Amino acid sequence: MAIKTTAFGYPKIGPNRELKKVVESYWAGEITKEQLYSEAEKIQIQRLTILKNAELDLIPSNDFSLYDFVLDISTMLGVIPKRFGGNLDLDTYFAMARGSKTAIACEMTKWFDTNYHYIVPEFEVEFKLLKNRPLESYKFAKEKLGIETKPVLIGPFTYIWLGKVPQKQEGKLLTHMVKANETPKFKDLVFSASKVYNMILKELEENGVKTIQLDEPSLVLDLEDEDVTTLIEAYKILTDGLEKIEIFVHTYYESLSKYEKIVFDLPVHGIGLDLTINDENFDNIKRFGFPSDKKLIAGVVSGRDPWKIDFQKTVDLINELLKFVNEDRLILSNSSPLFHLPISIEPEKGHLDDKLLGLLSFANERLDELKILKKIFNENYPVPSQNLQALRDEFKDDEVRKKVAQIDEKKIGRKDSFSERYKKQISMLGLPKFPTTTIGSFPQTKEVRKARADFNSGKISNEEYENFIKEQIKNVIDVQEKLGLDVLVHGEFERSDMVEFFGQKMKGFAFTKNGWVQSYGTRYVRPPIIYGDVSRPEPMTVKEITYAQSLTSKPVKGMLTGPVTILNWSFYRKDIPKKEIAYQIALALREEVLDLERAGIKVIQIDEPAFREGLPLKKSKQKEYLEWAVNAFKLTNELVKPETQIQTHMCYSEFNEIIDYIYAMDSDVILIEASRSKGEILDAFEKFNYDHGIGPGVYDIHSPRVPSVEEMLEIAERSVKVIDKNLIWINPDCGLKTRNWEEVIPSLQNLVQVAQIMRERY
Ligand code: GLN
Ligand code: ZN
Repeated sequence: MAIKTTAFGYPKIGPNRELKKVVESYWAGEITKEQLYSEAEKIQIQRLTILKNAELDLIPSNDFSLYDFVLDISTMLGVIPKRFGGNLDLDTYFAMARGSKTAIACEMTKWFDTNYHYIVPEFEVEFKLLKNRPLESYKFAKEKLGIETKPVLIGPFTYIWLGKVPQKQEGKLLTHMVKANETPKFKDLVFSASKVYNMILKELEENGVKTIQLDEPSLVLDLEDEDVTTLIEAYKILTDGLEKIEIFVHTYYESLSKYEKIVFDLPVHGIGLDLTINDENFDNIKRFGFPSDKKLIAGVVSGRDPWKIDFQKTVDLINELLKFVNEDRLILSNSSPLFHLPISIEPEKGHLDDKLLGLLSFANERLDELKILKKIFNENYPVPSQNLQALRDEFKDDEVRKKVAQIDEKKIGRKDSFSERYKKQISMLGLPKFPTTTIGSFPQTKEVRKARADFNSGKISNEEYENFIKEQIKNVIDVQEKLGLDVLVHGEFERSDMVEFFGQKMKGFAFTKNGWVQSYGTRYVRPPIIYGDVSRPEPMTVKEITYAQSLTSKPVKGMLTGPVTILNWSFYRKDIPKKEIAYQIALALREEVLDLERAGIKVIQIDEPAFREGLPLKKSKQKEYLEWAVNAFKLTNELVKPETQIQTHMCYSEFNEIIDYIYAMDSDVILIEASRSKGEILDAFEKFNYDHGIGPGVYDIHSPRVPSVEEMLEIAERSVKVIDKNLIWINPDCGLKTRNWEEVIPSLQNLVQVAQIMRERY
């Protein structure tokens, strides 16, 4: 007997983003459906070949998708909302994801605590098996490459957990949807889905499939006993009448909830546990043991972070596991799907620093690590010698570490109270009631993007580029003055991305050439890698902001991305606590804030749209995160004068559970997304008696239309009912970067009019 290996969730995008290219050309009508399918087959064969060459004992299949793997389950189970016509074809599939002329798209939301986004299932019709996708994928791999595979798909419990039940329907528009797991229907939905899964598995068994992997990441959330009962009942339905097929249930991103009960009682043949995220699963194994009739699929190489494993430590861990699990029942695996990582470090050779490359492992390198681990155990292959710590030490900055160590967490924050500060600010800035402002960016036109590309490729000189940016700033200041806005912005034309821009100016960040990761559908991102201690060698934004300020007598906002957002949208190191990295970034930003203040900037906005994104999955860990996240934000601006106004902006956020922490950030003004919920979001602020400045976004910048005075007024009116009128600001929901000037000008004209009406009324 010998230890086996498997893997799952390998990136779908292709080494050169081939998937994006073919899907988008199909959308643009440049290629036919047949061409799309045949190109997609090529990508599938390529990735299956890589997986085959990884010498895995269980090669995964069915983990490829044209758009989203949750949407794949929906279309497989007939979960197609009526507004899409109910037929399963390729265009319906894409319409559910992106909307069509006649039907609005399904909602898209964050996948657990990752930066992946899935299409939310809407349970309004009965489940019916439209297409056995796992079987098709299994057959495809067998036909094309002659390999046996293990189909992988989301399990029924998690699938239902992630979906929503529509409550009310008005014509084609869904007015209100609630989370399926919060309704009494949850159990029934899971059971009905499990019946269809049972049919799928029977067909798989009949076709000779030996093993199937069902991913149930929702089992790491805070489950109630009732949920566990539902889960176990569901798996009885799902496995009913099956004889030979082996079923593995995989959990990841956190430790399994209710370990003892689930691991021992779930009627399946194997359990996958994430052993890289923290020690909790391993501690549970030591404490409760592991059932002798099940296999342990041990996630020992991370699917989430890009750091090479420490071979000796991993070998030690596996040896410890072998005390609890028989060798023939241990399967080594990645801990969570590999699609959170770029494909390979190969294209980065010669681009990234060699020392840094020595620390990195992307998806292909994870497969290599599994290969080596297996050899170490089965073939007495020597444990590779590494000196990771020495490499990491190369990027250490003692100065920075010392400064962070000196932070007294109890004393972080501004010294004067909000009410004293705000009074001074309003009189110094000479602001009217209901002041108007925007979130920062103005349209990033083709022209702007071309100038940046030309600058990056050396086609235009630094001076030419800077002059171009200056012209843009001059224009946008002029536009805002004519519109009559009160607090102006410089437009962010010099920024491609709000995190990348700052990362490129700070020490400790690296940027890959080809390190794309799917965020959703055909949208891929290249997350920065925070590999060293962070500092700011020189001012990052002062030049553009002071130029903008020199053009007007109205206040121009300094515009920064906050420490928590920079951290949450990057890959970050694991050898020091996340909190310390946040504080390092915060201290670097603090210098920038002070430089801006010294340069005469009176309002500084520090954006934290990803503040909530880092919220731990387990409730018991959320307080700790929120506390240091608030501290990091406060650190950035604690040293400014009381008359300097600090604003922040947050979007994509539900505030209900975290409102006390939002308040604790002690920002003078918070600008939030509010228009899509017609101001409903303000309820959380009302309940809390929120008494700092607040700008509920009245203009939904996500849709390409001009909002009327009336609809924006409705939200402004709702705000005065729940918040002190002297604290209300009038502004859009988010930055205007993705809009075009033709929409922006009339929309902002209407917005300014809303403020004027409010001033007359109140
Ligand atoms: N200041 C940024 C902008 O206006 C904020 C972007 C965001 O919230 N995602 O574009
Ligand atoms: Zn935003």
